[in-house]
Amino acid sequence: MKGLLSVVLPAFNEEAMIERAVLAVGSTLQNAGIPHELIFVDDGSRDRTWSRIEAAASVTPTVRGVHFSRNFGKEAAILAGLSQASGDCCAVIDCDLQHPPEKLTEMYALWEEGYDVIEGEKSSRGKESGLHAFAAHSFYKLISAATGIDMANASDFKLLDRKAVDVLVRMPERGAFFRALSSWVGFRTTSVTFDVREREAGESKWSTKSLIKYALNNITAFSNAPMQFVTAAGVLSLAVCLLWALVSLIRLIAGADVGIGTGLGLLMLLIGGVIMFALGVIGFYIGRIYDEIKRRPRFIIAAVCGMEHEE
Ligand code: UDP
Ligand code: MG
Repeated sequence: MKGLLSVVLPAFNEEAMIERAVLAVGSTLQNAGIPHELIFVDDGSRDRTWSRIEAAASVTPTVRGVHFSRNFGKEAAILAGLSQASGDCCAVIDCDLQHPPEKLTEMYALWEEGYDVIEGEKSSRGKESGLHAFAAHSFYKLISAATGIDMANASDFKLLDRKAVDVLVRMPERGAFFRALSSWVGFRTTSVTFDVREREAGESKWSTKSLIKYALNNITAFSNAPMQFVTAAGVLSLAVCLLWALVSLIRLIAGADVGIGTGLGLLMLLIGGVIMFALGVIGFYIGRIYDEIKRRPRFIIAAVCGMEHEE
């Protein structure tokens, strides 16, 4: 018996793509003999996306739909889809078909081999305009540095085993960043590469502004490195202060006239340094509070053995 694959498709204003996605994804999986369900999550679309999903569900028994009350964003849509999924494994794929559905069979085969997390990695980023490409590139550089996970080619195109899905769905944190969390959970991980396709219809839902907002949200969700800047600046200004004080002292001893400016400058550096350092320390504690408040599980158990447990 082959395991059931749940495919989650977040959709925001994608009326033109629903039918095509059902056809493309459904037939690919059908031909490969993979039992599947397609879960469309309408992320509060303002066009006829939801009625298209309802129509698809009424003619295709494998199609299910989830409808949001308003636009909650792709992250929320993915998590909602995963929480509705009943499959032994779940895949997430853009419903604009920029992620090639044929890759799902390859990912599924890897899952059958025993991998728990199969990441789709972009081998090219497809066509993006200058500013957008620049913003996306800077974002991935920043987030890779902040999270310690190489995100340059990461995408939301993934296939996850039930145990990874259960962990993600149960995560209590609200600002979840699916792309990085799927690698944060661990388990047996592998990846497949794919070429980003051109969009067939509709347009990208990301403006440069929303991309920047997304970047800031996700960097702060994964790291409190930005807060350490203040401490570093405080330490730097104290160091400069000390150095200057030493130099002035030596000059004073040597009989030079150091003047009132030196004293004032030193005082300013000292006060500034102490304040910034203190802010950094407070920031450090806020960082701890922030880490705690996310309520991420402290560990994730991949499997157990030697114990009676019901499956
Ligand atoms: N999407 C969503 N909610 C949003 C924005 C986008 O569910 O608020 C979906 C969208 O329908 C698509 C996928 O996320 O299936 C990727 O969006 P898009 O193609 O606009 O992003 P890009 O491919 O340009 O990164
Ligand atoms: Mg797209």
